[in-house]
Amino acid sequence: MPEGHTVHRIAELFRDHFVGHSLEASSPQGRFREGAALISGSHLERSEARGKQLFLYFEAERVVRVHLGIYGAWDVTTLQGQSVRAGSAQTLSLGAPRAARRRLGETESLLDADEPFPPAPRGAVRLRLETPDMVADLRGPTACEVLTLEESAAVEARLGPDPLLDKGVRGQREFVRRAGNTARPIGVVLMDQAVVSGIGNVYRAELLFRHRLDPYQPASSLPEEVLVEIWKDWASLLADGVKTGVMMTRNDLDSAGRKRALRVAKDRYFVYKREGLPCRVCGTHVQMALMATRKLYFCPQCQLSKKVSS
Ligand SMILES: [Zn+2]
Repeated sequence: MPEGHTVHRIAELFRDHFVGHSLEASSPQGRFREGAALISGSHLERSEARGKQLFLYFEAERVVRVHLGIYGAWDVTTLQGQSVRAGSAQTLSLGAPRAARRRLGETESLLDADEPFPPAPRGAVRLRLETPDMVADLRGPTACEVLTLEESAAVEARLGPDPLLDKGVRGQREFVRRAGNTARPIGVVLMDQAVVSGIGNVYRAELLFRHRLDPYQPASSLPEEVLVEIWKDWASLLADGVKTGVMMTRNDLDSAGRKRALRVAKDRYFVYKREGLPCRVCGTHVQMALMATRKLYFCPQCQLSKKVSS
């Protein structure tokens, strides 16, 4: 599932290439026909992400809210035939460096140079947004709806703070308040978008490991300074993820190791998807358990030992 960094990159892509234009909107698949008709021909004024949700603000106080869920993705195509998959794990923005664009050519089918623009929709495209030289196709989202400004503000108010929007001490305080108020396990709380926005399964497992936290410990039992450290760490991981497009959570690598890990996903994490492999810190086998229906990865030695000793 795309986590916060990906959705922020998508918002950025819309800011750079669609905001300020009047967009044609359609629903080739048909499921969003009425919504598309409401916004088609109108001016996109603003593009914002809060956690895993994208908000596109059109004129006349109409807001398109998109949640990609597990399978959703945006594909953006330019008149020149470059195709950019914005919602996949391999997130690439149009501003990506040349090397990334070349790699994109190997992994994604480029459009036939003779194909007319805009290209015919491929697969079940819920929403297509287009300018004269750019097309963005949305497939497989969990949510795609048109809201009024008031309705979208209500949705946003229910979401926990996002370090990229709620900067400084304001977001930190809000996170500490929301997390400190619940006795649910910290491993559940970090994924609760009403407590903090944007953390998914990868960042959850890695944050817990980076702070050597027992995932089952009640959030309200954690000292405030621990919650503050988690928030600050999340803020820096998110900023880094938005910059690089990948979830790079290891802080034990030299610059060559980091470069390699940026290319090779399995080198990026301390515990995520590493069950049965030796912990990078202590050598104990990493374990996997189900928590709130999602797979949780942790090192029993580094993270559970506190529970045993306390
Ligand atoms: Zn360990």
